[in-house]
Amino acid sequence: MEDFSLLNRIRYFDNNLDIDQIPEKSFDETIKDKLFTCKQNCFTFIIVIKNQESKNSDPLKIISSTVKIRQDISAYIGSAGYLYMYYRLYEYAKRSNQPELKDEYFAKAVDLYDKLKPFIEQYEIQSVKQKSMKIPTFFIGTPAYYLIGCLLFKDQAKEEQAQLGIMNCMKKILSFMVIFEEEGYRMEDELLYGNAGYLYCLLVLKLDFSEYFSEQVDDAITRVVADIVRAGLVEGNSFLTFSFPRGKKPYIGAAHGSIGILYMIIKAMQLLPDLQKMTNLKDVVIKSLDDLVSRQTKAGHFGYQMSQDPQGEAEAEYAVHFCHGAPGSIPLFVEACKTFGSKRYLEAATLSAECTWKYGLIKKGFGLCHGICGNAILMMCLYRFTNDEIWKKRAEAFIKTTLNNEILQGMDEYEFSGFTVQGVPDHPYSLMEGQAGTIVALADFSGWPSDTQYFEYDIKFPGFEI
Ligand SMILES: [Zn+2]
Repeated sequence: MEDFSLLNRIRYFDNNLDIDQIPEKSFDETIKDKLFTCKQNCFTFIIVIKNQESKNSDPLKIISSTVKIRQDISAYIGSAGYLYMYYRLYEYAKRSNQPELKDEYFAKAVDLYDKLKPFIEQYEIQSVKQKSMKIPTFFIGTPAYYLIGCLLFKDQAKEEQAQLGIMNCMKKILSFMVIFEEEGYRMEDELLYGNAGYLYCLLVLKLDFSEYFSEQVDDAITRVVADIVRAGLVEGNSFLTFSFPRGKKPYIGAAHGSIGILYMIIKAMQLLPDLQKMTNLKDVVIKSLDDLVSRQTKAGHFGYQMSQDPQGEAEAEYAVHFCHGAPGSIPLFVEACKTFGSKRYLEAATLSAECTWKYGLIKKGFGLCHGICGNAILMMCLYRFTNDEIWKKRAEAFIKTTLNNEILQGMDEYEFSGFTVQGVPDHPYSLMEGQAGTIVALADFSGWPSDTQYFEYDIKFPGFEI
């Protein structure tokens, strides 16, 4: 007889998904139903919060799994995450030719953007006083608010207003460079709380808004990359290692470690070819990538930390989601292959994606940071690069499991998620842990015209893939 008490401790569901099964409904119809249900839940929550606002509160409030309500402006669990959600829903309505819905989401996004403005400014005034709040990354600080602001202004009908709005938002993002001048203050290096997360914002500006402040953006990128490389080159090593918090053990995963940081450095090298002239940069990055490849297990896993023996754990014990484990490394190795041309990086990306497919139907939920939808988004990266239909089908199969009753029950019973309340993400409506992220994934996978080319699928992991 199966031991169910043990089953409730296994991190993932066995993947029995059949990608060739002929569905009753089209993929789009199936996920539109799911999107509708998720939106009902999440939007109801946002309306509840807004009603409270009319009494004595503000639109910054978020709710935890223990029903504690507090303020948070971050994209990771707070209000900027909802701004991102509305923006992605707007993009979905735009490409699927739903003009009324498009206008509705755009209006919702602009409304929230305007409502948040005084709170964002207040937060920044406090930040000047409290060093701990000075974290200008996409996930944690205020840059996400301004970055989404740039994207919203770009689609404003009035051109003059659009340009002014974009420039104001960009000035704000660039103004965070001042922290690099401060004595005695240094950000972490990683994506969530550190320089790589700020670099993400600068790289999006470089890619999408190159007609504005191009020199300042290039200078900022160069400066941040140099800072990261300086921090990662531990004496005696020929490759980069990054610890989190700084000075502790070196981390590997995309949120806190080398995978996320190296991805940003490689994207910076692509977008700013002059960086390749930086002394030894190319050499150091290749050695760092090769070191990572050597740490991948036969099944494609990565441990949490560099000190972990790559063959030392049972397969069931490895984390397989964006923040830790193989899924986050798919975009890194794809970009490494594009930049340095080595086949071994494509092999590593494929191994990571195979590992994500096999072990990535995880019981932590349907969220982005550590959930099934996040893993689906990361597999799409390999499809965009290889045009191998299997990765699209597999990603879609993961997305289709959203709100599946059997899976929901398994998530409910999973005992070792690390959540405060079993079966419930700590911030159940948030972008990175909760339903707002699931909505983003469902919207991102919906509404693509049938003639969309494989490289045109704009389904990218927020705050990470560029
Ligand atoms: Zn996570």
